[in-house]
Amino acid sequence: MKMRAVVVNQAVEGDVEVVERDIRPLEFGEALVEVEYCGVCHTDLHVAAGDYGEKPGRVLGHEGIGLVTQVADGVKNLKIGDRVSIAWLFKGCGSCEYCNTGRETLCRSVLNAGYTADGGMATHCIVDADYAVKVPDGLDPAQASSITCAGVTTYKGVKVSGVRPGQWLAMYGAGGLGNLGVQYAKKVFGAHVIAIDINDGKLAFAKEMGADIVINAAKEDAAKVIQEKTGGAHAAVVTAVSKAAFNSAVDCVRAGGRVVAIGLPPESMDLSIPRIVLDGIEVVGSLVGTRKDLEEAFQFGAEGLVVPLVQKRPIEDAPAIFQEMREGKITGRMVIDMKCACGHNH
Ligand code: NAD
Ligand code: ZN
Ligand code: ZN
Repeated sequence: MKMRAVVVNQAVEGDVEVVERDIRPLEFGEALVEVEYCGVCHTDLHVAAGDYGEKPGRVLGHEGIGLVTQVADGVKNLKIGDRVSIAWLFKGCGSCEYCNTGRETLCRSVLNAGYTADGGMATHCIVDADYAVKVPDGLDPAQASSITCAGVTTYKGVKVSGVRPGQWLAMYGAGGLGNLGVQYAKKVFGAHVIAIDINDGKLAFAKEMGADIVINAAKEDAAKVIQEKTGGAHAAVVTAVSKAAFNSAVDCVRAGGRVVAIGLPPESMDLSIPRIVLDGIEVVGSLVGTRKDLEEAFQFGAEGLVVPLVQKRPIEDAPAIFQEMREGKITGRMVIDMKCACGHNH
């Protein structure tokens, strides 16, 4: 059996190509998923560019949603017809100190979809059944694809920020992750939200999604405006792909504030030691979410509290989507529709 897949090209300079591949037979504990939708995350762009190591030929994608069409021996939790996710947390070892203490995303022998394992940006994907999270009834599958990374990552990030109802949370970056982060922070955690980006269109959208204050960091000093208007945010979550945003986030919080780092620009941030020590600032990284976090994030989507904005595109558009993301042109998420029936000949 064959599948079509979006893979990192041989040059590993950020471009992708659509290829045909064989589908291998299933092994013990695995399931075959016929993918319906897969979103394009900025992390796919980092992988395609070799930002964390070169992976030529890797099938990308960790915002996959599809239907189980085959199960191998040893699969207990899935049956044919179940709708499941293909997330960045593709498979942990299941027995280390991280896997056993609710921190499975930090497992040292983890496999990540679309990075160290072939991912969901393809018509088919073989998954480890134990790590496929079921999509609840009532959640649109294309919207579920966005929650599989962008949603769960920002849901977890806001959780890690410790923000409480009525407190101020600064969301740096209002792209694919950030706009969902605004929604989780506002509608699920009851925070007051400031959205910061360098693109007015994305800020207008963040405002529609519930942001109380929006700031264009290309035109104003975001940290200064936040300190003036709120007395300093209680927490900041940084999804922007820019060191400048990380530095601003440290300056925007009040004493005792926490900065949660999510964006992954391959560079270092500045940390003033007196600022960290004298003002008791915490800076902490947060990586996607556990299977339990994803189950929770899906449920808030199914209940209509968080509504991802998605635009469906055919698989042939993958190279163009990567280019649009690189240029910062995407509002919401571009989602590849693996069964695109748009009438065009592809
Ligand atoms: P995106 O391209 O959709 O959004 C990034 C946003 O950052 C854009 O709206 C852009 O305008 C904005 N931005 C750029 N410079 C800025 C600045 N100086 N100040 C404020 N905003 C600025 O990307 P995305 O899919 O939302 O991903 C964002 C980042 O998060 C990527 O680096 C991605 O790899 C990373 N990521 C991390 C995790 C994790 O688990 N930690 C999970 C998913 C994605
Ligand atoms: Zn992602
Ligand atoms: Zn482990």
